[in-house]
Amino acid sequence: MSEFDLPKIYDFKATEERLYAWWEESGFFEPWNDPRKPGFDPSIRPFVITIPPPNVTGELHLGHAMFLAMEDLMIRHQRMKGVPTLWVPGTDHAGIATQLQVEKELASEGLTRDQIGREEFLRRAWAWKEKYGGIITRQIRRMGSSCDWTRERFTLDAGLSRAVREAFVRLYEKGLIYRGPRMINWSPGLRTAVSDLEVEYSQEQGTLYYFKYVLADNPDEYIPVATTRPETILGDTAVAVHPDDPRYQKFVGRQVRVPILGRIIPVIADAYVDREFGTGALKITPGHDPNDYEIGQRHKLAIISVLDETAHINREGGPYAGLDRFEARERLWEDMRAQGLVIKEEPYLMNVPRSQRGGEIVEPMISTQWFVRIKPLAEPAIAAVREGRIRIIPERFTKVYYNWMENIQDWCISRQLWWGHRIPVWYCQDCGEMFASREDPAECPHCHGLRLEQDPDVLDTWFSSGLWPFSTLGWPEETPDYKYFYPTSVLETGYDILFFWVARMIMDGLEFTGKPPFHTVYLHGLIRDEHGQKMSKTKGNVIDPLGVMDELGTDALRFTLLVGSAPGNDMNLSVKRVEANRNFANKVWNAGRFVIGALKPVAAEPKAAPEWTLADRWIRARTKGLVREVERLFDAYQYGEAGRQIYEFFWSEFADWYVEIAKLQLAEGGDRAFYTAQLLVRVLDTSLRLLHPYTPYVTEELWGRLKRAAQVRSEHLAPAGGWEEALIVARWPQAEAEESWEASAVEDFSLIMEMVRSIRNARAEKKVTPGKLIPATIAAGGRIGIIGEQLASIIALAHLDRAETRLVESLAEKPANAIGLVVSGVEIYLPLTGMVDNRAERARMEKELAEVESQIERLKMLLNGPFAEKAPEPVVEKERQKLAAFMETAEKLKGQIKSLSSKTHIL
Ligand SMILES: [Zn+2]
Repeated sequence: MSEFDLPKIYDFKATEERLYAWWEESGFFEPWNDPRKPGFDPSIRPFVITIPPPNVTGELHLGHAMFLAMEDLMIRHQRMKGVPTLWVPGTDHAGIATQLQVEKELASEGLTRDQIGREEFLRRAWAWKEKYGGIITRQIRRMGSSCDWTRERFTLDAGLSRAVREAFVRLYEKGLIYRGPRMINWSPGLRTAVSDLEVEYSQEQGTLYYFKYVLADNPDEYIPVATTRPETILGDTAVAVHPDDPRYQKFVGRQVRVPILGRIIPVIADAYVDREFGTGALKITPGHDPNDYEIGQRHKLAIISVLDETAHINREGGPYAGLDRFEARERLWEDMRAQGLVIKEEPYLMNVPRSQRGGEIVEPMISTQWFVRIKPLAEPAIAAVREGRIRIIPERFTKVYYNWMENIQDWCISRQLWWGHRIPVWYCQDCGEMFASREDPAECPHCHGLRLEQDPDVLDTWFSSGLWPFSTLGWPEETPDYKYFYPTSVLETGYDILFFWVARMIMDGLEFTGKPPFHTVYLHGLIRDEHGQKMSKTKGNVIDPLGVMDELGTDALRFTLLVGSAPGNDMNLSVKRVEANRNFANKVWNAGRFVIGALKPVAAEPKAAPEWTLADRWIRARTKGLVREVERLFDAYQYGEAGRQIYEFFWSEFADWYVEIAKLQLAEGGDRAFYTAQLLVRVLDTSLRLLHPYTPYVTEELWGRLKRAAQVRSEHLAPAGGWEEALIVARWPQAEAEESWEASAVEDFSLIMEMVRSIRNARAEKKVTPGKLIPATIAAGGRIGIIGEQLASIIALAHLDRAETRLVESLAEKPANAIGLVVSGVEIYLPLTGMVDNRAERARMEKELAEVESQIERLKMLLNGPFAEKAPEPVVEKERQKLAAFMETAEKLKGQIKSLSSKTHIL
């Protein structure tokens, strides 16, 4: 095989791993301007993205695939533009997820974490991380992600752990961190507080239980109350009614008796109560319901917690102490029934909060936890977006951001886990003081006592991921990396974690570094199945990106994700679409294979200056136009649309038209062949550069082969500036201003394409055998020059019979028994004798005439309206020309219809 022969089929399996290893070994993923390298220039602005860190024990899913493809596209684009780029990779320790894995492993050995103790548990957790942590990073590589692996980070690294301590202590010292009892989500299975993010609401069939709250001063009077969780009756501290509810006004200020327990509690009035819901009277359990907690605060009610950390009833529950919450529910209800307190039960559809990890029902509970006082952090974060220092794309999420940030609640940051950053607070057993510290303390700073105990809890993982854009670069140290690469540029992620992660990074960045951590937030949508349904394991509609890559290649998956997406919009994904894009990768390969093969016979030097054909000028103009359009779309973050345009250009213009015409031009030999080959190389080269951020593997492989073949053949085939070392570091095509010849080249060639298309359609309609050469008469009018120049192409592409094709300016008489086609005023007659049905032919032309006339009508209205005065003159002129062309076509169609009517020939 020589440089000019390519395998027929693109073998992605043999290509992807090899190319990735080569890129990485060559240092292409590292910024070319780097504080660690000689010749570093701090004045050149870099482009920096920090990866949303996947869970260290996770496996690649479509959500990862989406952000990896999108961020890699941004990074590759900037790198090709010559900007020093850094994409920092890393993983998150993922407290709950990892701890659960380790606990599962322990359970299989019949052990619990309490049995082996904290130290041994952490040893096992690290071993687990060492064993499985590499899976996700290998999968990130497989996606083609051009991350700088020399700067890989893990949230529990020493450096990042230092950043976490620094951040905690600073907030603590500012009084922004406090410890206290508050309502939180409690996971009884995991025995920890969980964040709102870790709670999923599922709609489930439950029961609404109606019962009697008997008045303390009169056992014959009662207030009917309904609840979905009867066991919480044990923690009730009031019954509330609406102040304006005439049914219950007489009870306000009196007291009722808690069923079974007999505790006396007040009846209060609060406008929060919904008179329409249930009975219109509410039992108030401030210890186990966030709304009741609020009411309790307003009315200074006692707070009683009746559940322990495993959701069993504690001693506050009297006779039910020790029972599981659901068992207690049944027993209590039966006892109430026996005492005549039950009114009725009704089926009730409710939103049940379940733990995302464990699946068990989460209980709102009062618990002593650590909190961040968030309002002082939220205010500057709101201002940063309002003042435009951070831009959110798409813009509509800005409103959502303000709304959330303005109503933000204090953030519970403690978790009752072992795997994570342990809270850097110590309690002195001697003097009882508590203090936070950057270093592990040897003695109490207050009494110099030595009996110190560290808080047992760890921090919510979002606490460390909030610091991610700067902790990964060395903060709190003023490292060279931090100084040069921070603030980062774009933060790219799914809109579903705008609050949980993005908002926290903005707050933390402003608080700790005084700067917004990035200037742009780009939010992509979520991926749904082909019917628009959310993907879930239970529905069985989850697409595994690894399987898709095995079968169809990484490029096909990336292209599908990138081209199917628009900022902030969900996309529907089907494997069929990935298949179609695998075909596109093959199309690119085949076109490349043709171009490279075409170089073999051409001369090394041209003899004269080029004489470009119309097709040449057209493809050059279209290539330039595409580069401009892609530039515009990239600037507007419209990557999906840019990808679609590149695809359309490559497939429907370059491969389908220019390559076909180039075959004829190459066959002419000499300079025509040389310049055609040169242009083929140029257009392919530009296309591969534009496609590279979307489909890095096939483009790099093909480009390398194109470069080698071109170098062997002729120095004149090199792009301006020469061939670069690799496509990944090749220059991004520069958008150039439109030149005067471009518009007419595009317009003239469109006429040729339309003519060929309409002849092909007519052939198909008449069921002419494909490949059978047919005669034609073309009356070209004023376009005779253009058509004459491209006649050979038209003949070849439309399968006309060269000897039987006539090109004239005009015809004295229309040929008989011929199909007449009119394309932009050019008449084409195909004398398909014996194949023409005059009546059908006439009907077809009348239909066409009607369409043309409606266009004429539309344009006349447009040009008589305000458009003609308001629009720029060249735009108006273009519309006028269109109108003239339509009017010409209409006249010719009328002529053809008339000549058909006057003939008597009937099939
Ligand atoms: Zn002390």
